[in-house]
Amino acid sequence: MRSHLLNDTTADRYRRSVTEGVERVAAKLATTDRPFTGVTVDALAPRIEQIDLDQPLHDTTAVLDELEEVYLRDAIYFHHPRYLAHLNCPVVIPAVLGEAVLSAVNSSLDTWDQSAGGTLIERKLIDWTNERIGLGPAADGVFTSGGSQSNLQALLLAREEAKPGWAGRENGDDLAKLRVFASEVSHFSVKKSAKLLGLSADSVVSIPVDHDKRMQTVALAHELDRCKRDGFVPMAVVATAGTTDFGSIDPLPEIAELCAQFGTWMHVDAAYGCGLLTSLKNRDRIDGIERADSVTVDYHKSFFQPVSSSAVLVRDASTLRHATYHAEYLNPRRMVQERIPNQVDKSLQTTRRFDALKLWMTLRVMGADGIGELFDEVCDLAEQGWKVLAADPRYDVVVQPSLSTLVFRYIPAAVTDPSEMDRANLYARKAIFASGDAVVAGTKVDGRHYLKFTLLNPETTVDDITAVLDLIAGHAEQYLGESLDRAS
Ligand SMILES: *Cc1c(COP(=O)(O)O)cnc(C)c1O
Repeated sequence: MRSHLLNDTTADRYRRSVTEGVERVAAKLATTDRPFTGVTVDALAPRIEQIDLDQPLHDTTAVLDELEEVYLRDAIYFHHPRYLAHLNCPVVIPAVLGEAVLSAVNSSLDTWDQSAGGTLIERKLIDWTNERIGLGPAADGVFTSGGSQSNLQALLLAREEAKPGWAGRENGDDLAKLRVFASEVSHFSVKKSAKLLGLSADSVVSIPVDHDKRMQTVALAHELDRCKRDGFVPMAVVATAGTTDFGSIDPLPEIAELCAQFGTWMHVDAAYGCGLLTSLKNRDRIDGIERADSVTVDYHKSFFQPVSSSAVLVRDASTLRHATYHAEYLNPRRMVQERIPNQVDKSLQTTRRFDALKLWMTLRVMGADGIGELFDEVCDLAEQGWKVLAADPRYDVVVQPSLSTLVFRYIPAAVTDPSEMDRANLYARKAIFASGDAVVAGTKVDGRHYLKFTLLNPETTVDDITAVLDLIAGHAEQYLGESLDRAS
């Protein structure tokens, strides 16, 4: 069994094994003609169920053959131009190369003595990101597993920083005084975080959005006012820079003003919109982000990085101390005096992947402009797609895109019952998924079912968009035809 350990004597096996895996994926990419096969849970589950994990095959080629059956053949392929559903990007090759290197070397970024150069590379990428944001000379941050963790950590810091504003923790109910403000279309991780942080069930105040799905700052001002008047503490405002559903960007400068006025922590959730940090022409859409106290970025959404790659950034490095604990066996306090950089002092995780290497390889090979160019392309595509939808009488489209998302609904002239339209749109989404011809997402707008394209693939064309719209219309019409038959 020792021949399976990656070391000096097994370099050849390593090379052969990994190459064989790479060949399989490369062949897959070359021949995939749809984003999905349409396999059902019922068809796939038994194939996985019948594999006896206590009966190993011992042979890499045989295992890869098996993997073809249970995974590769029926996986969802984000690189396909008709994958239009969620915030999953096609990945860039330098990042995948980084992934291969980082898992083979297997550095752990919690301490210097488990990573060395990896720690410095991560720190440099944090500084680079902060410079792009404009957070100032005292800024810092750390890579995380994703936007949800970044939001959680940011809100932890906000909670601890809000402490001087409330009476202290002696009266167990003090956490109940804290309020977090986020728009009604903010990410659910804000609410999850509030729960994990021990805030009360009604701690997250939902601020209504305007017609463009941007937080209404008049309503925010009103709620902040009321919070203070009622003796509560405005712990944080979460501004979303790129909502998951619409790509809409909250008015950051106005929100920054209000946060300054009320002494409230400003968190910008730019999990999606962070791609604008490299944009060559749309960077101004997130102006105001530089005024944040903390920022969430998901490189695995709009920097074309493989999952996971995310970071939380803070204006004031010293606030990260709220996540610092020392252990003799890992990061004793004296190491701080010795100026040994232990990233675990800033992180919620302990053992942690060297995800930063993927972004490093990407910046070194393609440059930031390379990422920005790709992201600009998908934003342009969304703009064109919006025009197509706006001109198509079969569809109702909401919100001109600020990023790369289109939300729309099939509305046949002959059908006036909105519930029937809901069912037709839901049916179309399911039918397309089952066909595997495309993958589209869905959401609700004002209580009605809508469909959604999240465009993150520069290879997707306007023709793909029109073709998928025709597919949707076809399925919806089929449903409506059948339901007419049922009714008569
Ligand atoms: C995706 C997303 C998140 C969560 O990020 P994960 O990486 O999926 O954990 C948070 N906020 C917004 C706005 C997002 O779009």
